[in-house]
Amino acid sequence: MKEYLTYLKKPLSGLEKEVKKIIDSYALFNKNEKIIVALSGGKDSTSVLYILKKLGYNVEGLMIDLNLGQWSEVHKKNMSLFCKELKIKFHIVDLKKEFGQGICFIKKIVKEKKNLSGCTVCGVIKRWILNKWSKKLSADKIVTGHNLNDECQTILMNFLKGNLYLGINSTPMTGISKSEKINFSIKKNFAQRVKPLFFISESKIKEYSKKMNFPILYDRCPCAIGTYRVETRKWILEISDSDKLRIVNNFQKIIPKLKKKKSFGEIKNCKICGEPSRKDICNACEMFLCLK
Ligand code: AMP
Ligand code: ZN
Repeated sequence: MKEYLTYLKKPLSGLEKEVKKIIDSYALFNKNEKIIVALSGGKDSTSVLYILKKLGYNVEGLMIDLNLGQWSEVHKKNMSLFCKELKIKFHIVDLKKEFGQGICFIKKIVKEKKNLSGCTVCGVIKRWILNKWSKKLSADKIVTGHNLNDECQTILMNFLKGNLYLGINSTPMTGISKSEKINFSIKKNFAQRVKPLFFISESKIKEYSKKMNFPILYDRCPCAIGTYRVETRKWILEISDSDKLRIVNNFQKIIPKLKKKKSFGEIKNCKICGEPSRKDICNACEMFLCLK
């Protein structure tokens, strides 16, 4: 393992400065907040953890163990050593303990009963676990490694589905803002989700993480096969980074108008698990019910 701890003292690189600029201009964090970085073991979340640590934020890492055999074992080991070297607390949450089943079984049943794609199911479950654990760990913010390519892909997928409203949360900081008028107990128990790499292209992050020689795997999730998201990822590569940025920036301008046009219902507590939800029963609990 490289001497990452000593590297933290070096001057900021170009990409690190870019991330700092996004954090400052969107006021994503302050130095008193407890930030949980959701670690997949890939280049994006590892880079964001490292950069936030270098910028002096109070970060901890959290990985959801999806129980995907050797793939999960290698990621857990890599991130555990990396966090140890950087003196960052690292939490591992076992999906089977949280949800009672492994990810492959859950995806198979939910696909059969609700016809939802594997990546959608995985996303709902990860968000639910991250929310729950951010409360357990008294975190103020949850950070994910979503990058410009991910956001551009989401916008275009929603456009092709004919439902731009699905993208109203595609912003550098999502969730319940301090100004939103909702039940105090919900707001108190809710950590906002933050994406510091929102405007940074995948190619730049890849270049950075290779240069830093982070102990990570570059392969994609072994479960992500044959979904619409996987197909769109391919043609997104044909779009230049500056056009991706244009698509994402232009969509940012549309979001306030979309929000004005449609009421999204108040945020309440899910009747089953108590997590915040716009419906009586949250998406994760709906999935959980269909496993029974
Ligand atoms: P993905 O949906 O796999 O592209 O991941 C998007 C982001 O979700 C990553 O950058 C991480 O921040 C987070 N994430 C993905 N997988 C995990 C995991 N197993 N545990 C914790 N966070 C994860
Ligand atoms: Zn629920």
